[in-house]
Amino acid sequence: MEKVGFIGLGRMGRGMASNLRRKGFELVVYDLNPEPMLALEKLGARRANGVAGVAQAADVVFTMLPASPEVEHTIMGPDGILANGRRGQVIVDMSTVEPKTTDLIATAAKDRGLTVVDAPVGRLAAHADRGESLFMVGASDEDFQRVLPMLQAMGTTIHHCGPVGAGIRTKLVNNYLAIISCQLNAEALALSQRFGLDLTKTLEVCYGTTATNGQLKINWPNKVLRGDTEAGFTIDLAHKDLSIIIAAANAEHVPVPVAAAAREMFSLARAAGHGAADFSAIVDSLCEAAGINKPRVPEGWQNPV
Ligand code: NAD
Repeated sequence: MEKVGFIGLGRMGRGMASNLRRKGFELVVYDLNPEPMLALEKLGARRANGVAGVAQAADVVFTMLPASPEVEHTIMGPDGILANGRRGQVIVDMSTVEPKTTDLIATAAKDRGLTVVDAPVGRLAAHADRGESLFMVGASDEDFQRVLPMLQAMGTTIHHCGPVGAGIRTKLVNNYLAIISCQLNAEALALSQRFGLDLTKTLEVCYGTTATNGQLKINWPNKVLRGDTEAGFTIDLAHKDLSIIIAAANAEHVPVPVAAAAREMFSLARAAGHGAADFSAIVDSLCEAAGINKPRVPEGWQNPV
């Protein structure tokens, strides 16, 4: 069985690495923060002293890091994976990054005889904990088959979207829709609150028409509408993703005015101190700014869907 390396044990990576270990993969891990490494050690993973230690030990190295700068540094930096790795290794980046970062690391890896797979993740941190993630994979057929058993240990739905780079581009399309839905929901529910409408009746109506969406129907009734704003996916990360989407779309001469407007509402939420909250809390930020009560379903309310 191939030895697996895992770098980045945050909200997503910790659960994913734990599932690799539980499914029997030999695992070596690293994070700047020692706390999640201790948790992984208890499951039988080996803790490396740095990125170099992971690169030297593993056949396949996964990265689950915040954004492009961390990914570029970890893979291409002087003490990074490419400097310490060897021919035939595969790097699987699951972070949400700029597409040009994926293209850059793929080219740099190829020059040294390694290959890159981009496998960004759909669904939320709770799914990652349960091994129920969705992956959008960009890879050669050979690399896809090689990393498939590992992805299957971390997820239930795996889409091979095309060659390297196709995964992250699919992810940006997906996140555009998911994050924009939050901003639309926030405006609509703020209006509903201002009108003095009954929140649960408003939800029941929208759930029965084409107005609904996954955020309104699944995520929000389990999170912000019950007063739970602890982050699965933060407002800071949603802001980062919208910024990547706008830059990538502009580079391709695709205008995305809705994304630009929504991104600035996420900027407002960050400025008001909500950056670390779950992205569903965008509605709280809007309601605060407009002096409207935050929408909350009554205790004991059963989601009808
Ligand atoms: P996070 O901030 O919780 O975790 C990132 C981890 O990387 C942290 O533990 C941090 O200490 C570590 N780290 C940062 N720089 C490092 C370095 N140079 N070397 C080693 N470790 C380093 O973020 P997250 O929520 O786990 O998200 C990770 C990625 O997955 C992001 O790109 C995000 O956009 C994407 N994503 C998140 C979700 C979600 O619901 N949270 C869902 C899908 C995709």
